[in-house]
Amino acid sequence: MVETVPAETPTVLAPDSPNAIGRMLGLLGDEWNLLIVQQALLGASRYSQFMARLPISNSVLTNRLRTLVSDGLLTRRVHASTRARTEYLITGRGRSLWPALLSIWQWERNWVTGHRETLPAMRHAACGSHFTPLLRCNTCQGVVTGAEVALSLGPSGTWARSAPAATTRRRSESDTTERHAGLFPETMSILGNRWAAALLVAAFLGTTRFTDFQNQLGAPPSLLAERLQTFCHIGVFTTSPTERSGPERAAYLLTEKGLAFFPVLAAALQWAQWWFQAPEGPAVVMTHHDCGAGFTGELACDRCAERLSGGQVSTAAI
Ligand SMILES: [Zn+2]
Ligand SMILES: [Zn+2]
Repeated sequence: MVETVPAETPTVLAPDSPNAIGRMLGLLGDEWNLLIVQQALLGASRYSQFMARLPISNSVLTNRLRTLVSDGLLTRRVHASTRARTEYLITGRGRSLWPALLSIWQWERNWVTGHRETLPAMRHAACGSHFTPLLRCNTCQGVVTGAEVALSLGPSGTWARSAPAATTRRRSESDTTERHAGLFPETMSILGNRWAAALLVAAFLGTTRFTDFQNQLGAPPSLLAERLQTFCHIGVFTTSPTERSGPERAAYLLTEKGLAFFPVLAAALQWAQWWFQAPEGPAVVMTHHDCGAGFTGELACDRCAERLSGGQVSTAAI
């Protein structure tokens, strides 16, 4: 299947190819892709600038730039001047990732304690304050957390289609040492792993039991047990044992930290479902309980209540 990607037009997905979740995980489940897009949003455009700003090797940078260009997040421009110069410019598709990046930043800053010193606060240029982004419902303007939005699977939302393409999986599995810059470690333990990401989506869909996770996702039990353990270890899930206890009987529930990941998931899904459209319908349908409308999120400043735009968020934090 050949796919052409005009940078500013949504990609129409072929039947049975990875859906929006799969495309999202293929791109955002790689920390280098996130960091390169972040630097492009901050103004980097030349190979040497990315090299100078990121602790990245030549081969990884070359590989990721190629991926980001072919998926339409960056566009490559060659200047035929005296000395040929190549620039990688952010496209609308790449630029519109800022709410997901901002939400990742916020979640890591708030919930991953090892970071507090290294991830600076964000400043809202419009009001001049250090702020926390709030996720609001676009329809009713109500502030939402993970518990107030219902998720269900849409027409293209089969688990088989929700995995990244095989080439992406091979790449991420073969270069695990290269793929972690360590800036967003816990985000990567969720988004950077196929089963982990699927588990989290399933948890937001309301799944709690080992056997239900297993039946829905078709995950190998040993891998599933390992991911559940990781999620409990980093505090995204907690277990609630029943009387006839055992790992299969325990309920795995999202913790406050797990629920707080919702803005990342919502922003990433919203981005992916806009830019990678399945003709038969979305992979995930989100509904806001309070107003009953289909949920689309927007980010607002907690200080001045203004809706945020990418260009107004300053300092090193995008
Ligand atoms: Zn609403
Ligand atoms: Zn503000």
